[in-house]
Amino acid sequence: MDTSPAALDVLVVGAGVSGLATAFGLVRRGLQVEVIDAGRAPGGVIGTVKRDGALYETGPNSALDTTPLIGELIAAAGIAAERLPASEIANTRFVVRDGRPIALPMSPGAFLATPLFSGLAKARLALEPLVRRQPAGEEEVIAHFVRRRLGREFLDYAIEPFVAGIYAGDPDRLSVPAAFPKLHALEQRYGSLILGAILGARERRKRAETAKNTAKSFSFRGGMQTLTDALARGVQRVTLGARAVSLARLPDGSFAVTFDQGGTSFTRHARAVVLAVPAAEAARLAYPLAPDATRALQEIEYPPVTVVATAYRREDVTHALGGFGFLAPRVEGRAVLGTLFSSSMFEGRAPDGQVLLTNFVGGRRNPELASADDATLAVKVAAEHRALLGARAPALWNAIVRWPRAIPQYELGHLGRIAKVAEAEKAVPGLRFCANYRGGVSVGDCIANAHATAESLGAWLRAPVTAP
Ligand SMILES: Cc1cc2nc3c(=O)[nH]c(=O)nc-3n(C[C@H](O)[C@H](O)[C@H](O)COP(=O)(O)OP(=O)(O)OC[C@H]3O[C@@H](n4cnc5c(N)ncnc54)[C@H](O)[C@@H]3O)c2cc1C
Repeated sequence: MDTSPAALDVLVVGAGVSGLATAFGLVRRGLQVEVIDAGRAPGGVIGTVKRDGALYETGPNSALDTTPLIGELIAAAGIAAERLPASEIANTRFVVRDGRPIALPMSPGAFLATPLFSGLAKARLALEPLVRRQPAGEEEVIAHFVRRRLGREFLDYAIEPFVAGIYAGDPDRLSVPAAFPKLHALEQRYGSLILGAILGARERRKRAETAKNTAKSFSFRGGMQTLTDALARGVQRVTLGARAVSLARLPDGSFAVTFDQGGTSFTRHARAVVLAVPAAEAARLAYPLAPDATRALQEIEYPPVTVVATAYRREDVTHALGGFGFLAPRVEGRAVLGTLFSSSMFEGRAPDGQVLLTNFVGGRRNPELASADDATLAVKVAAEHRALLGARAPALWNAIVRWPRAIPQYELGHLGRIAKVAEAEKAVPGLRFCANYRGGVSVGDCIANAHATAESLGAWLRAPVTAP
């Protein structure tokens, strides 16, 4: 039991990619850091499982290389050689329309020819630059934004399925400035998404950033867990199986966090604490120190998502599987939100002669189905494979991973909630909140936010200590 005051510079609660990347950045700055997590392994929702010669992911299958910070972190963690780019084939993405997967058009010519959008919907795009911008400061949901600027069909067959693919979310609830800050900025700045896309690309080139629609997907030879395992090795002090139950601030301004590890309790002291846990847990821990932030964090909802990894013999699936996978729009009424062609994206995901598909079920759209029993899920997913991919024999196996609270929803009012969290950080120096409910849900966003947290906390810890 550690009772010494401020034995650590920083205690990070939560060993998902947000917590691990923050801790890794702080260790690189020469600080004494420990990460403690309730789970049995580091990584949070990131996890890679080997089964019967295949390799499937419990959470993210890939990350997008949107900022140089990702490559820098991977190099510093010593796993640059393990990195695996997605195959060229993965540039093709399908969206289901009228019961069949149709490739998303990637060029103006393909756009004009695609049956994914009607002639009327395509013509409607020409009006986009003429649509008036939303007054600054007025928060709008993405469904309204897209209907207003691009028309109903783009909402149904382009944006809604992507919103389901990224957030497992509902476009009638997600806030444009919170969940899609770049779209919001394009409209505010250029008055048009089309003009903004053209002019914005120039500016991104200057900043060495890549837009999410052109950034390259990657994973690692051994799967996404390679990243979190390497970060955990770099941090060294990672304690698992211990759940934080309370957080207190001591008279000298440092913190005491008490954990429960299999019925035994222990306390760690640190000059600073990073809460890198989901919003509800952060709310519970922060309550005594930041009641306003607690209320805001409690409002952030996480719908369930269930992952179904499925292996087939190659000859039992008629579809060529030449792509990243397909997304199923809500209006198509399918049981899955989408399916990744995992073995087409990355080599080594299925043994020779087999294919691996990763299916996502549930989300805001269909939360009940996420909690269906294993047999029901297998039947529903198999029916989609028969209908959409021409599967003509049963799967070799299904593996089911359940996330009852999968992804935070950046819904209307989200930026106000995050402002309360930022106020708490100002009011309680040394307390930081860093997890995927803030600054973006993607692995790349988590890495960028962790980098910023490590940088600012590192600077603060190096600053002369003043009594509270
Ligand atoms: C099914 C799924 C698929 C996804 N696919 C993609 C994708 O393809 N690409 C992409 O970029 N992103 C994807 N994402 C999003 C991305 O993976 C996550 O947003 C990101 O990994 C979250 O990291 P985190 O560290 O913020 O949170 P988490 O990974 O949730 O980590 C939080 C950690 O806190 C711990 N914890 C909770 N409470 C306590 C407590 N009281 N005490 C101690 N520890 C505690 C948990 O055990 C957990 O390890 C996906 C997410 C899911 C769920």
